[in-house]
Amino acid sequence: MWRTVGQEKLVNTLARGLAEGRQLSSYLLVGPPHVGKMTLAMDIARFITCTGDEKPCGECLLCDRIGRGLNTDVTVINKDYGAPEGAGEKTTIPVTAMRDVVLSASLKPSEGNSRIFIIEAAESLNVPTANVLLKTLEEPPEQTVWILLATTSDRLLPTIVSRCQKLELRPATRETVMNLLINEHGAEKQRAEEIAHLSGGRIGWAIQAISDPSVLEEINGKLDSIEEVLKAPVDARFDYALKLSRDLRQDRESAQQELELWIEFWRDMMLVRQGLNQHIKHLGRHSVMKAYADKLSLQQISRVMASIKQTKGYLGQNANAQLAIENMMLSLPQP
Ligand SMILES: [Zn+2]
Repeated sequence: MWRTVGQEKLVNTLARGLAEGRQLSSYLLVGPPHVGKMTLAMDIARFITCTGDEKPCGECLLCDRIGRGLNTDVTVINKDYGAPEGAGEKTTIPVTAMRDVVLSASLKPSEGNSRIFIIEAAESLNVPTANVLLKTLEEPPEQTVWILLATTSDRLLPTIVSRCQKLELRPATRETVMNLLINEHGAEKQRAEEIAHLSGGRIGWAIQAISDPSVLEEINGKLDSIEEVLKAPVDARFDYALKLSRDLRQDRESAQQELELWIEFWRDMMLVRQGLNQHIKHLGRHSVMKAYADKLSLQQISRVMASIKQTKGYLGQNANAQLAIENMMLSLPQP
């Protein structure tokens, strides 16, 4: 059983190739974060090592051990690979770690027929590290399979890309995400629907959101404050601008997510204004959006959108954050 969901076409092609003995030594899986690249990589690893009849059977010892992360022939390499605990934050795989990996790749597999190396965030490899990897892909040690995961192939060396079979993962449909959440994660229909809309087809994100309530809590907290701001008079809006500009300094990622939510909120509002209610991302906010959309013209909504996007652009260029957000506040409709 393949565990990958929502990639039927790609899985069929891949399974046919593997079943016909066309096992390659390197694959490149490309797709947005949390779309299911690691799940697919593990499926390929299980397929290759599986001793059952219908591969990947999911039941033989080797499938089971890969599923539980115990199979010593499967190595996942990410920025923390080989680093001692507390070694500090790294942004990419150090070249020394990649050299160690390549050295270990010449060892024979210890459990199955192949050793499988999965390289996360391959797009962020620096040139020296990428070159070590390239040499290996050009002449891979026997019985090794290399699976590279990347959000885009544009930032990889073209020579690396050309060595790999490239497989592009697309976001799954909302229906697929919803059914998975209901059937395999016991979600209620309404909640599954809400998360499916929010997920943008990224299965991994949807599963995270259903199993960890804090994911949705954080988003909802931010949307609540956006709604508060829309109801507030101008001085309170300026207080918000001050707070968000401080957050940008202290917790940049969270503040940027909040700005992204401002954009999503108004994009949804535009859809609601046009009667395209089923396409909105933040389903739980529909009634609030409807109330605004009834009062505003499409032109007014798109002016606000433009202002928020412009603010986000300014902030990316290190402009005066408070001033930029205050301007954005002034572009919002009066409460
Ligand atoms: Zn198996």
